[in-house]
Amino acid sequence: MIKVFDGHNDTLLRLQKKPTTDFFKMHRSGHIDFPRGKLGGFAGGFFALFTPGSSPLDTTRGPKGRGRETGLFEPINHEKALTGTLNLAAKLLCLERASRGSFMIIRSIDQLLQCMASEAMGAIIHLEGAEAIDENLNCLEVLYAAGLRSLGITWSRKNIFGTGVSLNHFPGTPDIGPGLTKQGRRLVSACNQLGILIDLSHLNEKGFWDVAALSDKPLVATHSNPHTLCQSPRNLTDKQLVEVAGTGGVVGINFGVRFLREDGKEDPSTPIAQIVNHVNYLVDTIGIHHVAFGSDFDGTTIPNSMGDVRGLPKLINALRKIGYGDNDLKKIASENWARVLKTTWRQ
Ligand code: ZN
Repeated sequence: MIKVFDGHNDTLLRLQKKPTTDFFKMHRSGHIDFPRGKLGGFAGGFFALFTPGSSPLDTTRGPKGRGRETGLFEPINHEKALTGTLNLAAKLLCLERASRGSFMIIRSIDQLLQCMASEAMGAIIHLEGAEAIDENLNCLEVLYAAGLRSLGITWSRKNIFGTGVSLNHFPGTPDIGPGLTKQGRRLVSACNQLGILIDLSHLNEKGFWDVAALSDKPLVATHSNPHTLCQSPRNLTDKQLVEVAGTGGVVGINFGVRFLREDGKEDPSTPIAQIVNHVNYLVDTIGIHHVAFGSDFDGTTIPNSMGDVRGLPKLINALRKIGYGDNDLKKIASENWARVLKTTWRQ
């Protein structure tokens, strides 16, 4: 089985109020737990620390309900975000300790390679929206020491560093709002210095081009799709895709149906073939070295035929059927992530 290292999940948020042992039992609901991950060849991925606005993300809700809760896309304050972030980071640390070696937090390339070569499952700590970071960046230092290795400057809302794209407009452009603030620019260089990957998913287009101009590391969108195929503001224009590839970066394909479908509908009957279309488009447009997966498991509505993390082999097989060989599949499934992280993280 081809093992997958995946660019994004919101599993920690789903597990937040559950006992640590829950992760190690097989469940019917949600997308990722340890036993199902093993069955799907999920070697690990980026686990998001995400603090919702006034109401938690509800992945069962239809498109009309999403975001209607007041405040979901409103800015949140630093204290609330820091508390939320520490709670989820603590959950991840507890999972690692409870696993007795079978679930590990990945803080270095050696650990990533060790994880890929073993039976362990690995987690990269990703901060989705930087509200938990104070303007002096002291919290960045502390979170780095705790294992933070990837950071999205914004979620789909505004903060002191930049402006995120809306999730509610379809069709829509990512070119909404101003670029990075002065603090945002300082955050980019601090991440470069510490060796923290900067994630461009959820950031608006002006912010994207600011990061492109400032950052000396490969550009990465951990969970976004080509805008040409689905005109969600969350997706990347061809110009942005070409820029990512030009820096040696990676785009992680989001399995969320609203980011895959031409009509942007939250329709779970969307076939896995639609994910395959996005893979093909990216491979044709920017080359296979810049394409990966960023499932968004536990954070969005995915195709019913994928079901949960156990559906990954179906996707791999669908790609194999149309001519992707083992070497190609390994690049998309994990090696492209490993290359970018090797270039980005401090050795
Ligand atoms: Zn996201």
